[in-house]
Amino acid sequence: MSFTLHGAGAGGGIAIGQAHLISSARLEVAHYTIAAKQVEQEVMRFSAAVELVRTELQGLRQSVPAGAPAELDAFLNLHLMILDDATLSRAPRELIRSLKCNAEWALVLQMDQLVAQFEKIEDPYLRERKADVVQVVERVLKAMQGRPGRALAAPARAESLIVVAHDLSPADMMLFKQHQYAGFVTDLGGVTSHTAILARSLNIPAIVGAHTARQMVHEGELVIVDGVHGVLIVAPDELVLAQYQQRQRELERGRQKLKRIRSTPATTRDGTTVDLHANIELPQDIEQVRESGATGVGLFRSEFLFLNRDDLPSEDEQFEAYRQVAQAMRGMPVTIRTLDLGADKTVNGSARGGPNPAMGLRAIRLCLAEPQMFLTQLRAILRASNYGNIRLLIPMLAHAHEIEQALTMIAQSKALLDEQNLPYDRGIQVGGMIEVPAAALSLGVFVRKLDFLSIGTNDLIQYTLAIDRTDDTVSHLYNPLHPAVLHLIAHTIKTGSRMNVPVAVCGEMAGDVTLTRLLLGFGLRQFSMHPANLLAIKQQILKSDLGPLPKLSNRILRTDDPENAKRLLEKLNA
Ligand code: PEP
Ligand code: MG
Repeated sequence: MSFTLHGAGAGGGIAIGQAHLISSARLEVAHYTIAAKQVEQEVMRFSAAVELVRTELQGLRQSVPAGAPAELDAFLNLHLMILDDATLSRAPRELIRSLKCNAEWALVLQMDQLVAQFEKIEDPYLRERKADVVQVVERVLKAMQGRPGRALAAPARAESLIVVAHDLSPADMMLFKQHQYAGFVTDLGGVTSHTAILARSLNIPAIVGAHTARQMVHEGELVIVDGVHGVLIVAPDELVLAQYQQRQRELERGRQKLKRIRSTPATTRDGTTVDLHANIELPQDIEQVRESGATGVGLFRSEFLFLNRDDLPSEDEQFEAYRQVAQAMRGMPVTIRTLDLGADKTVNGSARGGPNPAMGLRAIRLCLAEPQMFLTQLRAILRASNYGNIRLLIPMLAHAHEIEQALTMIAQSKALLDEQNLPYDRGIQVGGMIEVPAAALSLGVFVRKLDFLSIGTNDLIQYTLAIDRTDDTVSHLYNPLHPAVLHLIAHTIKTGSRMNVPVAVCGEMAGDVTLTRLLLGFGLRQFSMHPANLLAIKQQILKSDLGPLPKLSNRILRTDDPENAKRLLEKLNA
């Protein structure tokens, strides 16, 4: 029977394909199917990991010091028992064989079943033993992931599959980046969560906040993902299917047409040229950037080099990544944001930072608390600056002393390179992100100390409106047109222009075609967005006359009636 679910559209376009359900636990494990001839090899990989964990646990037991509490031995024993139990050590082998799936997936499927059984147990002590099961599973997963040959194989038929999951972390999305899934649907998540942003960067139709999709959709069922309107249609009838197929063809035609303006400068009808830069997560995104006709990289979210791994990338590894991007952009600006780890982006195995991670030890706060990690990155970026036009961007600044400390550490990194006679761009520009309201309200120190500013509207909205951007239960309150948000943005752009400090917008607002004229009206001349949005924004700029925009934009800024703001915006976009 056909039915429809609603969420928020997170990636444009329409996808039609078979639902592929992703387990709700340990989401960071890879899910892929394998060829029949690889099955026994996969079973062996699983068995080897179980063996490795057994040796590890036995070793731990032997190393328990004489005076240690008795619980420690009991706990290790329990874990060994769980590991040796056939439901955990044998059943996944059968699942690998019957489902022809990778070992991690089989193990997590089996774990889900076991955990569900534990949850039915009345005795609270025994019920809580499910945590031990999960811990043992995590050990085995780690053992598998630590082994060579972890790289993901291409899943069969991925291009016709729609991933349906309860939640996906940014790290999951990075793994999916290596496959060509047709679409994504998650129960949780807001439209500007990093997961949704990544879905957009993959240029794949996606819906977040679909609430019950994972529960209601069955594996293999035909589904339509309308990423524009946030609608998921399950088991569509023939008429609906035909309509969406037609819409899909129209969208594709529109996309092909836009390609014609790829190398046209983004100039308004009255002759002002606007910089359209691209946001990237990894060096391999550069190909898409070049196809989009972007004239620079306005935001390289460098922390994505740190995800899906247990160790930190070395200075040399980072240097190679930054250099690759700088060289590929051939002299065009490449803005590398220093690590924005914390909140929803964590290194494997490390806990989400603190009780309220978005407000915790995140981004520059974490970097200043971990100077070695920060210095390593700064040195890598500086070394790469010798190979192109690199700019440094510091995220989440709020305090003058954070700016001071970051600049001191940059100077320190330069001095270290000087000592070793390693070349770097001595005039490298350093900018700051404006994404905390406190920063937007105390711009004096920012414009005095920094060479440029970049407004991160995703976080600016989150922190101004006190709305967790990853929480779909409050995503209806996430409103870029809230007068407080618009005031902070307009004030930052106008202050930058008055003080001769360039200001860009690199949050999702920059890639929203309905907001292009409003931002132009505030005086914005630098936009950075996902390459997938760039040509549509360019088209809007080509169609726009700057003349009347400031007056109308300021009227929107002055109104405190949301309906009126909407009407005025429609007028601006007419
Ligand atoms: C932002 O906050 O708008 C931004 C561009 O940074 P991120 O989305 O990576 O937090
Ligand atoms: Mg941000």
